Amino acid sequence: MKRILLTNDDGVQSEGLAALAEALAPLGEVTVVAPLRETSAIGHALTLHDPLRLEQVGDRVFSVGGTPTDCVTLGVFAVLRGLPDLVVSGINRGLNIGDDVTYSGTVAGALEGVLLGVPSLAVSVERGVRGWEFAEAGRVAQQLAGGVLERGLPPRVLLNVNVPKGQPKGIRVTVQGRRNHSTSVDERVDVRNRRYYWIGLSEDDWLPEPNSDHLAVVEGYASVTPLHPDLTAHAALSFTEALSRGGPSGVRWSESGRGSAW
Ligand code: MN
Repeated sequence: MKRILLTNDDGVQSEGLAALAEALAPLGEVTVVAPLRETSAIGHALTLHDPLRLEQVGDRVFSVGGTPTDCVTLGVFAVLRGLPDLVVSGINRGLNIGDDVTYSGTVAGALEGVLLGVPSLAVSVERGVRGWEFAEAGRVAQQLAGGVLERGLPPRVLLNVNVPKGQPKGIRVTVQGRRNHSTSVDERVDVRNRRYYWIGLSEDDWLPEPNSDHLAVVEGYASVTPLHPDLTAHAALSFTEALSRGGPSGVRWSESGRGSAW
């Protein structure tokens, strides 16, 4: 029987996690190890300076007072005591597309899976008109997880799956979209006259790219983007080489893109 390890970043009580466990149950033995509290936007953080508590909170369901990366690590080394056949992270409340994958605790859970050598998926869903709905995303997750269990994935590759609201028209293979990183900072004053801040997100402007995850979701398709942990900018290697050689010589990177995520 295949062993499937689930995690998320919305917390062990999340409805999306329960929907994922239900959707994947026909494919194997599902074990859930998820953060005790919500850790959205925690990225790939690993808890190194505090002890981690692992509690069983249900039938094959465990909570960890840490991050999704902590959960996959403890799931493998303290719960399953061996590698599962598949790691799936989600179903996240909200899309993880474009640059947002770098903040995503959901994607990081799957990233930890591939770093440990396990085929992994991250699954996120767009908010529906009537709130959060996970059934369609569960179906997409089941289809892709079934395929991965049967055929595997290339080493160090995870699938980042994003499902639009409503019923998806199909599945599109995509690349990460790009937007004009329009973070907003809301400055306020507290009752003791000290300033404090809320970081928020403004209106996004997405670069039109025909094969982006963003466009797929906007057009009603579930997007599947293969990701890998290698952040090396291969296209910039020769520039970096010239830069590192020093001296007054020629190659200069264009200034025009400065200050813009594009
Ligand atoms: Mn989340």
